[in-house]
Amino acid sequence: MDALPDSKPNIEPGMVTVMGIPYDENSSFMQGPALAPAKIREVLHSGATTLCAENGIDLETESRFVDLGDIEFIKGVNPLQTIEETTLHILKQKAYVLSLGGDHLVTYPILIAYAAERGPLDILHLDAHPDLYDHFEGNRHSHACPFARIMEEGLANRLVQIGIRTMTPHQREQADRFGVEVIDMEHWNPNIEFDFERPVYISLDIDVLDPGFAPGVSHHEPGGLSPRDIIHLIHHLSAPVVGADIVEYNPRRDPIDMTAMVAVKLLKEIAGQMIMDNK
Ligand code: MN
Ligand code: MN
Repeated sequence: MDALPDSKPNIEPGMVTVMGIPYDENSSFMQGPALAPAKIREVLHSGATTLCAENGIDLETESRFVDLGDIEFIKGVNPLQTIEETTLHILKQKAYVLSLGGDHLVTYPILIAYAAERGPLDILHLDAHPDLYDHFEGNRHSHACPFARIMEEGLANRLVQIGIRTMTPHQREQADRFGVEVIDMEHWNPNIEFDFERPVYISLDIDVLDPGFAPGVSHHEPGGLSPRDIIHLIHHLSAPVVGADIVEYNPRRDPIDMTAMVAVKLLKEIAGQMIMDNK
């Protein structure tokens, strides 16, 4: 079963499908990422930019790119289960999922579905934060914890983290325990090369960007990546991208939709890469 609108387009094998996730109940500091899917779509279709990725793929006319709308959460049903089942429904039709919005906890149920259907993938996680807390303020499903749950449950073959600049001793221990490959900002260089051997899933927390480029996030953490750093990285992975999420964009902190446009740009580049990789 999926929890997407009945009016959604048909899902066919090989499609890259956009799935909105208006859910931010596990944010620890402030809410807002539930509003992200609607704002990102509004800016994507505002006429302010084209829908062309830099590799020449035009998402406006590309039949393999479809927007399925937002997950509709039903009172009394566990939202994590709804996300997992909806993702699984799409994957069973041999399509790829590119999810928009939500706090970072949403990556956990998405990867449960990916691991069940495709086996554990290599995960490229871009974030200012490692999100490896065993629990945060008593919540094991906090947006500060998803990668602890993902590693405990064997949902990733490899986890590579980029852009980290808030590592705590506890999370350092967790990273060592789980064998997480952490490339922190101090050791970042834009020409870094990857040797992924399995298909890659990209989990993109918008706060990996420097807040100067993307102020619309709940946790401003200076000293981050530029949009160009991330675009270059997307274009130069050694293995195909088979899934992605764009999380933690908070429209409440984005007065002139500046961060929405960064999210739109990265959405176009990730979708363009996924379509090119999975021909
Ligand atoms: Mn995160
Ligand atoms: Mn973060």
